[in-house]
Amino acid sequence: MGIRAAIYCRISEDQQDGWGVGDQEEHGRQLAQLMGWEVVGVYVDNDLGATVRSRKPRRDYERLRREIQGGLIDAICVTEMSRLHRRPLEWHQFRELAAPFKLKIKSLTDYIDLETGEGVFAANLRADIDEEEAEQIRRRVLRRALSDAKAGKAHHGAYRPFGYQPVGDGALEVVEEEAGLIREATLRLLQGETLGGICADWQKRGITTTTGRSWRPTPLRASLMRPALIGCREHPEVGRVRGRWPAILSEDEWERLQFMFKDPDRQNHGRVNVRSYLLTGFIYCGLCGKPLRGGPRKGGERSYCCRQDVVVRGCGRIRRKADLVDEEVVKRLLYRLDSDALRSGLGAVDDDADAADRDEVAWCKTRLTQLADDYADDTLTKPEYLRQKRRLTERMEAAKRRRDSRRASHILASIDGEPVREEWERHDDLDWRRALIAAVIESVTVHPQRVRVKFDPDAIVVLWKDGVRR
Ligand SMILES: [Zn+2]
Repeated sequence: MGIRAAIYCRISEDQQDGWGVGDQEEHGRQLAQLMGWEVVGVYVDNDLGATVRSRKPRRDYERLRREIQGGLIDAICVTEMSRLHRRPLEWHQFRELAAPFKLKIKSLTDYIDLETGEGVFAANLRADIDEEEAEQIRRRVLRRALSDAKAGKAHHGAYRPFGYQPVGDGALEVVEEEAGLIREATLRLLQGETLGGICADWQKRGITTTTGRSWRPTPLRASLMRPALIGCREHPEVGRVRGRWPAILSEDEWERLQFMFKDPDRQNHGRVNVRSYLLTGFIYCGLCGKPLRGGPRKGGERSYCCRQDVVVRGCGRIRRKADLVDEEVVKRLLYRLDSDALRSGLGAVDDDADAADRDEVAWCKTRLTQLADDYADDTLTKPEYLRQKRRLTERMEAAKRRRDSRRASHILASIDGEPVREEWERHDDLDWRRALIAAVIESVTVHPQRVRVKFDPDAIVVLWKDGVRR
């Protein structure tokens, strides 16, 4: 029996050379051929979004380890050793596990044979083929990638891309069911839903990736960023080329999606909502005018309260049960949205203004970091630092609010004609709901209520965006 080789590929942001999964698999095949090994499996892990020090488990790496222990694999081919091991510790653990099986590992520049003593002790120092030969393989793979790109052939690894089925010679056919899901996700994202919300919904519906895994925000984003979805492929040297397959999304939809993904303001996109209170940021104290903050009181009852701490310096005299306030405000909001007058008053999104505000937010963030450095370096006094910080924060918040309300007009446009209450119930997603609130509500003020009343709706004053109180 010949030597059974596994090809291991990993895409991640810490690998600077940018070899895609398809390229890595091709490297592996060429290395196996060079060594006279038989390829018995391809293992692919996606580490995008993970940091260099990530301890995130790698599913195929774990599977590879199990299959080595099961005696199913004798050798591994990999572009660089660092694809296989992210940290020295991982390498030591792997070596301990693999040594009894006399495993061989071949990369473009190294050869490790755990059968020989030298292999065990000086493993990562030894390079068995010369750099010349490695360079030839790299060039061959690059050339092929380049000619495939010019010809508009699809470029994917061992697994088929979501939404498409390869039909040979670099052509792809649309998988209608998956294409429908891609369109659904795009629409929902453009309407203000989060990647995390969509993944959670898809998990409930049993929708998986083409490798049978549950959808997570990072792979979903990566999947939606592929130009393949508009029937194109991209190559650094060739640029964007029309591919041998039909588009699933229109260019306009896809470009808007990319714009949204690149937005620094949405970088924490997909994480669990940081804010768990519907109205924080919109709700104020009726006595001192300071923002109310969410927080549980003794017994864990959620409430909005005016706090006297150093950050807010509120009066500390207003506290109201959050659930009751939310319910009251939502009731008025939905009633109001049912009136057509308001909806028609919302204009289209101004992309230029939105880009300007996005830049403003980014600029403020950079300035805030510089400011903190200056303060740390003693070039600013504390009062100066605090004053400038407050000014920048206010500017940034204002730009963010403008962007929220623009995003919200998208949302409003999308529910136009639908029963608003149903849409509200259907979107069990705090981001979506807050964006809708931002579109219509300027502020909510909580006033002291009459004595011996459990909850006084009249003490809640909503200031609507067009300036009408109710
Ligand atoms: Zn107060």
